[in-house]
Amino acid sequence: MLIADVAVPLPLRGAFSYEVPPVMALSLVPGARVLCDFGKRQIMGVVLALGEREPEAGVTLKPLRAVIEAKPVLSAEMLGFAQDLAAYYAAPIGEVMRLAVPAVERQRVDGLRAQGELYGESALKNTKHVASAREQVVTATNTVETPGTLRGQARELLAFLRGAGPQAVSRLEERFSNARAAAKRLTALGLVTLELRDKAVGSTLEGVVPRDVPPELTEPQMQAVGAIVAAVRGERDKRAFLLFGVTGSGKTEVYLRAIEACLALGKGALVMVPEIALTPQLVGRFRARFGDDVAVIHSGLPDRARHQMHMDLLSGKLRVAIGARSALFAPVPSLGLVIVDEEHDGSFKQEEGVRYHARDMALLRAHRAGATIVLGSATPSLESFELARRGKHELLRLPGRATSTAVLPNVTVIDVKRVGPGPSGHKLITLPLHRALDETLAKQEQAIIFLNRRGHSPTIVCGGCGVVVTCKACSVSLTFHVSRRSKLASTSGRTPDELLVNDADGLLHCHYCGYRDRLPSACEACGAKALMLEGLGTEKLEEVLAEAFPNARVARLDRDVADGKKSERILKRMRDREIDILVGTQMVTKGHDYPFVTFVGVVNADTALGLPDFRAAERAFSLLVQVAGRAGRHERPGRVFIQTYQPEHPAIRFAKRHDVEGFLEHELGDRKEVGYPPFARLALVRTDAIEPAVAARAAEQLAAMLRRLPAVQSGSVEVLGPAPAPLARLRGRYRHRIMLRADERPALRSVFGELIRAMGELDRRVRAVLDVDPVSML
Ligand code: ADP
Ligand code: ZN
Repeated sequence: MLIADVAVPLPLRGAFSYEVPPVMALSLVPGARVLCDFGKRQIMGVVLALGEREPEAGVTLKPLRAVIEAKPVLSAEMLGFAQDLAAYYAAPIGEVMRLAVPAVERQRVDGLRAQGELYGESALKNTKHVASAREQVVTATNTVETPGTLRGQARELLAFLRGAGPQAVSRLEERFSNARAAAKRLTALGLVTLELRDKAVGSTLEGVVPRDVPPELTEPQMQAVGAIVAAVRGERDKRAFLLFGVTGSGKTEVYLRAIEACLALGKGALVMVPEIALTPQLVGRFRARFGDDVAVIHSGLPDRARHQMHMDLLSGKLRVAIGARSALFAPVPSLGLVIVDEEHDGSFKQEEGVRYHARDMALLRAHRAGATIVLGSATPSLESFELARRGKHELLRLPGRATSTAVLPNVTVIDVKRVGPGPSGHKLITLPLHRALDETLAKQEQAIIFLNRRGHSPTIVCGGCGVVVTCKACSVSLTFHVSRRSKLASTSGRTPDELLVNDADGLLHCHYCGYRDRLPSACEACGAKALMLEGLGTEKLEEVLAEAFPNARVARLDRDVADGKKSERILKRMRDREIDILVGTQMVTKGHDYPFVTFVGVVNADTALGLPDFRAAERAFSLLVQVAGRAGRHERPGRVFIQTYQPEHPAIRFAKRHDVEGFLEHELGDRKEVGYPPFARLALVRTDAIEPAVAARAAEQLAAMLRRLPAVQSGSVEVLGPAPAPLARLRGRYRHRIMLRADERPALRSVFGELIRAMGELDRRVRAVLDVDPVSML
């Protein structure tokens, strides 16, 4: 009997076996989608493997219902990769498949089922063509016009096409009002060709991107490109690189050249960037080099576009994919090169469902595919840096900025304990910071002011009893946000640090669960009508700066003002120098490249240092280096001020000197001493429940079970806890955690089987998850 092992998109372990009816046997291949009976439902699954065998005695297998399409949606490469990934994280294969297979198919299946066409062969016939939108594309031919015969838009359009490469008529119309007529005329003259092509989907850019002229590479860039390209060609054995280049050193240019060489060899490339860095500016640089050969994968993509892109990659029509974490699963054909930009970024870790780390899995995917991988960063993760030190990754350095005139900015550390406030009276707008802003404005240059806290005031505290207002569902304090329409009443007459609640119009937000509430009029603990708004968030900072610099144009960029489109608009205003001072959170730190930004101020570096997480210093350091890297990227020299209460903290001391390697070495020393990654392997087991006792008991049961396992008894795996999680309550659920630690991964993995089984047998009121190589320790 021909049996198919099928992964179904449900959080269930393992695959399920079905009988393949003879009518499907010829067309079915691994990686294809099928419809199968599951309980009372019919669901879509992906065929993992096919084989002739007899079912176990006494077991009757159900037949497959239908084959959804004749061609596999997953290549052999992706099928194997998905299975290895599932094994690595002890995650259900069906859930991993759900990440790897575009979702739109489920809707299509529903549509087919509604038409009653989803049985046997008829399904095959009817689903072959996905209706795809087509468009007219104009391409310049090699024919040269008779001089003087072309006028007006026809001439301009031809010149443009010769520079920009093939273009869709619809796009040309955005630039040339008579594009259609001009194209017709040029066609008649044999100067261009017009053809109908499938629409390229998913570009986040509207309009035409003119092709750029690649700059001449610097010496270090040349060496880096040379090594990477040799690896892509298969001329060397080592195929993993850590591209360690200061901000503005031209890492992106290295990626572009390496991809170009990869494409020339007929291979595809995958580029992964942090979510926040997937800006039109970055995408524009790729499209300027590779035109419409680029699939841009982002979370806002409609299902249909995502599906089309998946198919276009699968068929080889598109050969470059760029995107955030989820691009890991982009089915790039004959993968030759994988790039992970800003590899240290925490957003590569998925924190729900299958908790995979896209950087680590990119290494796995590249390795399996025999592809070359480049991890790029100005502040490499300790994990990657340690691998480079051990010779697993080859280290490529770009030590200076790419344009010879640009040098790294001068960094001044300001000890807030010793320096007084400036004219605004606010203690965090210190006198030196105020002066520096004044000077920047006087030179008509721009400033970026970074603060790692959204909202207006991060704490609401009772002046009577000192109690802080916290979320009802989470063990965190609530942040005050000013209501969108009304600005706070003027701060005059009071010290700006202490605003009485009654003057405020706004809401309290929980940044963890999204809970919102009105401001209480009195303290819940003691009844005193003396609640005060304390601390500084970006909303208030924007307000204070606007008041202190009345002639400056101040704007803010954080998650509260900016969803995708809006943040693009703010960044464009910044680029056009319509903003003098840009205030913001992490969103201002990544990837932006503005020639007139010469001053960067970090208002309070300490917000990132104090978190209960062994990576807090590493993260704070990288944030400081990134934000400092926004200053002085071109001709005009930059300055950076870092304000802190802890000027001696290593993250600050090394950031001041731009000494990334010094910091990494220092931090590696600390990690080695306490036995944390990269010198150990960790996994976290988290349990949570509404009842505190239920959550605690579940954690204790799991820990007790783990302690009985041989690997734990022999000491090769250490069990730490259970203990309440640092974030002890979230969304109304009490949280506990157990940490597992081992020197080597195989030892750690050896306990996962038993652990998963035990997790499945817990009290039904408990949720338990296993997080392998955790990033968030909260
Ligand atoms: P990174 O990605 O390392 O932060 P970028 O690739 O953004 O750096 O480069 C910084 C700036 O230098 C960009 O404006 C880029 O166009 C420019 N640049 C990069 N390489 C060169 C080069 N070889 N010659 C001149 N300018 C370059
Ligand atoms: Zn909350």
